[in-house]
Amino acid sequence: MTLEQDLIVIGAGPAGISAAITASQHGLKVTLIDEAPIAGGQIYRATPQEWTPNTNGSPDQDLDDGNSLRDSLSKSNITHLTNHVVWAVAPGFEVRAVSDSKEIKLTAKKLIVCSGVTERILPFPGWTTPGVIGLAASTNLLKSQQILPSREPVIAGSGPLLYAVANAIIEAGGKPVAIADVGSLFDWVVSLPKLFAAPALLIRGLIWRARIFKARITVLHRHHVARVYGDDKVESIELMPIDANGTPLPKKKNIKIKSTSLIVGHGLIPSLEITRLLKAKHVFRAERGGWIPELDAFQRTSVSGLYVAGDCGGISGAKTAALSGTIAGLQASFDSGMITEKIFQDLYAPTESKRNKAERFGKRMGKLMSIRSGLLEGLTPETIVCRCEDITYGQIMDAVNAGAADCNEVKAWTRGGMGPCQGRTCGETIAEIVTRQVGDRDKAGFFTARVPLRPCTIDALAPVCSYDDIWNSDVAKVATAILPAENTEYKNSKK
Ligand SMILES: Cc1cc2nc3c(=O)[nH]c(=O)nc-3n(C[C@H](O)[C@H](O)[C@H](O)COP(=O)(O)OP(=O)(O)OC[C@H]3O[C@@H](n4cnc5c(N)ncnc54)[C@H](O)[C@@H]3O)c2cc1C
Repeated sequence: MTLEQDLIVIGAGPAGISAAITASQHGLKVTLIDEAPIAGGQIYRATPQEWTPNTNGSPDQDLDDGNSLRDSLSKSNITHLTNHVVWAVAPGFEVRAVSDSKEIKLTAKKLIVCSGVTERILPFPGWTTPGVIGLAASTNLLKSQQILPSREPVIAGSGPLLYAVANAIIEAGGKPVAIADVGSLFDWVVSLPKLFAAPALLIRGLIWRARIFKARITVLHRHHVARVYGDDKVESIELMPIDANGTPLPKKKNIKIKSTSLIVGHGLIPSLEITRLLKAKHVFRAERGGWIPELDAFQRTSVSGLYVAGDCGGISGAKTAALSGTIAGLQASFDSGMITEKIFQDLYAPTESKRNKAERFGKRMGKLMSIRSGLLEGLTPETIVCRCEDITYGQIMDAVNAGAADCNEVKAWTRGGMGPCQGRTCGETIAEIVTRQVGDRDKAGFFTARVPLRPCTIDALAPVCSYDDIWNSDVAKVATAILPAENTEYKNSKK
């Protein structure tokens, strides 16, 4: 099935919904695609429709904001494809998605990519032990399934999600044993002036810290996980003091804590499979999450007709995501001739000013989550780095020492990054390891994007056909015609 549209928007988070609504309001025929069953993206992830969200009687701002976006979406003319995974995108643009073992093809002159982020978890010995959970992933359990990821976990890593998750666990009746923050208290204090750009979010963060303090939970700043103990389940976690770059400080004492689970995450990285596949220009900005597409002030990429909005254009949070989505929707409408320059300017100017303000807060949060290369100093040769293909740190170092000079060479030599996740989990770690050898992330590069962007079944992609269909196909006719005359076995088999 092929659906022809004016505009395709990939990702129904705050950025994608805002982009789609804006463009649809200006008359574009829009399809919004997302793999999730309900719109909202990561921050506004909702419980299944038939559930009553349990907010413990207290107001839930994310739920309210998400419901308001979903409400506007349901009142629009947008075609919203839920449960559709985009597995391939081609220039021009052609988007292919699968759902329930069926494939759909969409075409449009304009494409807005709002695919959000992936969480970054840097490996350490024992990180693949059952009971180690991603920090951002645990927000999914809490929000969409209303499940406590663990009652008494150790929470470790960097950025605001550390405190958001600890707070959500306390609210749901659990009590984290300890929080190990890679950042120092000073990092947070110097961030305060920028955080005043979003007072409501700042107050929310301060309430989380107060609640954690009241629950008497130990917060260890400048600490990272040294090792997780346990074979088929987590038994205890060893934390180590680190410096500002994340490098272990061996002269200071490590702390061992008994717990059956560790919730860990080291920030977020933009999901760029689609913009890479379409060969848009990318630049490396550590404080925005790492590699990001090069964008102008109107969310346009280097590829004509291709726009990016939200966190996949650089980490900046939900408020900025929604505003950048509105700008991308406006620009796509203008480029399609649906609005005049005057209307565009009148609508763009106030939105841009709000986006710039929201970005001050978001960018600071992005900086608190940026990668610290010293965090990889605790790896042992046996530590698994690519968990899809079971490739260890030792194997990657062997490749690097033998001359592999960028991420793709390491991938080709070791299979690291070649599994079903296509390097979404190990790509950052491999890039940092290569960077130590070659000097900078530009030289280390990034994994070339390949289809399928997400795992999908052959069943969904291949049409149902019989041998007769194959024999009667154009390809078979050409093959038969060019086969050498003596290849009678093949020609006879056709008869
Ligand atoms: C797991 C996770 C949990 C998070 N939880 C929080 C939180 O609790 N609080 C907070 O402030 N921030 C959270 N964040 C950060 C948050 O994502 C952003 O600040 C904000 O949601 C960005 O909005 P966005 O519209 O840019 O992207 P998102 O909200 O991430 O939306 C992107 C959407 O694109 C879809 N998508 C991506 N690729 C494909 C594909 N190939 N096919 C189909 N659909 C696709 C995804 O399903 C997703 O719905 C979380 C991030 C992650 C990764």
